[in-house]
Amino acid sequence: MPVYRAPLEDYRFLLHEFFEVEKQTDLPQFEDLSAEVIDDVLANAGKICEDVLQPLNQSGDEEGCHYENGVVRTPKGFKEAYKSFAEGGWSGLGAPPEYGGAGLPMFLTMLVGEMTESANQSFSMYPWLSAAAYSALIANGAQWMKQHIVPRMVSGEWTGTMCLTEPHAGTDLRLMRTRAVEQEDGTYRMTGTKIFISAGEHDLADNIIHMVIAKIPDENGQIHNDLSTVNFFMVPKYLVKEDGTVGARNGVSCGGIEHKMGIRANATCVMNFDDAVAWRIGPKPQMPKPGEKHSSSEGMKGMFAMMNAARVGVGVQGIAVAEVAMQNANAYAHERRVGQALTGPEEPDQPADLLIVHPDVRRMLLHGRACTEGARAVALWTSLNMSIAGSARPERETAGMLADLLTPVVKAFFTDLGFECANMAMQCYGGHGYIRDNGVEQFVRDGRINQIYEGANGVQAMDLVGRKLGRKGGAGAFALFNAINDFLTANENDAQLADFVKPVRRGLDALQGATLWLAQHGASNPNDAGAGAVDYLRLMGIVVTGWMWARIAKFAQSRLAANPENSTFYREKLISARYWMERMMPECAMLRERVETGSATIMAFEAAG
Ligand SMILES: Cc1cc2nc3c(=O)[nH]c(=O)nc-3n(C[C@H](O)[C@H](O)[C@H](O)COP(=O)(O)OP(=O)(O)OC[C@H]3O[C@@H](n4cnc5c(N)ncnc54)[C@H](O)[C@@H]3O)c2cc1C
Repeated sequence: MPVYRAPLEDYRFLLHEFFEVEKQTDLPQFEDLSAEVIDDVLANAGKICEDVLQPLNQSGDEEGCHYENGVVRTPKGFKEAYKSFAEGGWSGLGAPPEYGGAGLPMFLTMLVGEMTESANQSFSMYPWLSAAAYSALIANGAQWMKQHIVPRMVSGEWTGTMCLTEPHAGTDLRLMRTRAVEQEDGTYRMTGTKIFISAGEHDLADNIIHMVIAKIPDENGQIHNDLSTVNFFMVPKYLVKEDGTVGARNGVSCGGIEHKMGIRANATCVMNFDDAVAWRIGPKPQMPKPGEKHSSSEGMKGMFAMMNAARVGVGVQGIAVAEVAMQNANAYAHERRVGQALTGPEEPDQPADLLIVHPDVRRMLLHGRACTEGARAVALWTSLNMSIAGSARPERETAGMLADLLTPVVKAFFTDLGFECANMAMQCYGGHGYIRDNGVEQFVRDGRINQIYEGANGVQAMDLVGRKLGRKGGAGAFALFNAINDFLTANENDAQLADFVKPVRRGLDALQGATLWLAQHGASNPNDAGAGAVDYLRLMGIVVTGWMWARIAKFAQSRLAANPENSTFYREKLISARYWMERMMPECAMLRERVETGSATIMAFEAAG
């Protein structure tokens, strides 16, 4: 049976020592946070994850969801687990108190999310998608929705979904066909089919609130292949009146569930909208006049806000799967006996040494440690920037730009690392990882979707290179480069830190060089930007994580200098930081070279095809 232990020690280190979150009382939602409150929330979340969610992970995967005549049943135990999760107040962790939530800041919801996803990714998608949906209603919904719908979602009585994808329109939402026609009373009637809708139908909650994008037809009843008429709607499974009373079943139904590689206990649904009553979220769009150029839709704004938060959440899913997979691989490496240490048997009285004696097994485990803890620090830093962006601090604009820039990096780089680590964890088990009994192959299967949904990782890379890099004249990228450069300059003469400062300096040079190359070539030949985008995103991810590891190394050194008797915790941090410098930072030069190779060969391949 796989195991999971909430990594509370690392959380406490990052929050209380490294980022000192409880001192940042000027940030919104941080006012009443003490270290005790934070630790209490994390410990209690860890407990429900270890005791309730994790034990259902393997059985949920084996059983999967059941579909019959439009009804979806989740696997055995999920209903009871969801009830205790909701009763514990976990569904409303980040929601403002006026809606019944705990009003906790993003860094805490992020860490609780990481734990639930490590314990049971399929389960955790039900409440976390719901949180994304109610956040969209809080941001842009009508007053009656905030009064009567949001509190029921916050309490977990109802759940929510995000409905974007259609059979012929996943990445390319311009092509969607679902339409919503305005009625005299101001509501809309929606018709169309959405596919791959996570938690679209299930038996955990009494009502499901679908957040849907659809096109409003023009005066001739036509819909266009662009985004100008795309709008954002709320479509409840059971109708809700403006006074909050729940009415009849709406015209939305589940046409089936997908049979898929991983997250098998999360229902991935085909959702049919048949003249369903829908409410538009946000301001009424300006329809383009006949012959007028269609521009990007204002109506998509609410959806993009929902998706940006969800992207960081998916990046955290990558960290979560790496954490749990590596915890299990580490335990296995300390119990399985295979071969002998290269320098001679470590336990001569035993038939063989433990797996952990082999350098390559240690390499994989240390890779997992360095990726997970480094990525977690970067994700937390990104969430803190998001909080600063909403504060009165003078640096709020810069913080917002940094968070905006790093969102695709967190999503794509950390989900890539998550899959890499899950795969390495399986390698540590040998054939015993490939078979199902040990549960480690489930992590590989579950972790794979994180690279695809919420915008495939290649599309995230295009978002970084095509949109985020150039935004506001490249201000976000400059802010990031300056922050890294400031640290390097301040520590350049510290001999003790040389092993950390030098590789990050080389990495930053590679990143700046590749950025300049893209700026010079990407505009004249967009294929050059497209061909190098994935390598560029990884390059930025490695450099940012390297910078974070260098800062952690400096911190750990100071703790050890103050008290050489200090725990092995700081020594292990130094080892992980060194690993990143020695084994990950050298990739930067290679990635830069790849970016600067351009697109000629790649595009010639298509021509030859
Ligand atoms: C298990 C699961 C759960 C999901 N949950 C939801 C959900 O809750 N709600 C929802 O709306 N959707 C959901 N999705 C859909 C998911 O978001 C889409 O599958 C994803 O966005 C990719 O769209 P697509 O599958 O149509 O691939 P396509 O758009 O056909 O793209 C195929 C591949 O081409 C590449 N590609 C496409 N365009 C570009 C580009 N411009 N630049 C570079 N590369 C490109 C990418 O590598 C991409 O993976 C889910 C999917 C799955 C499998």
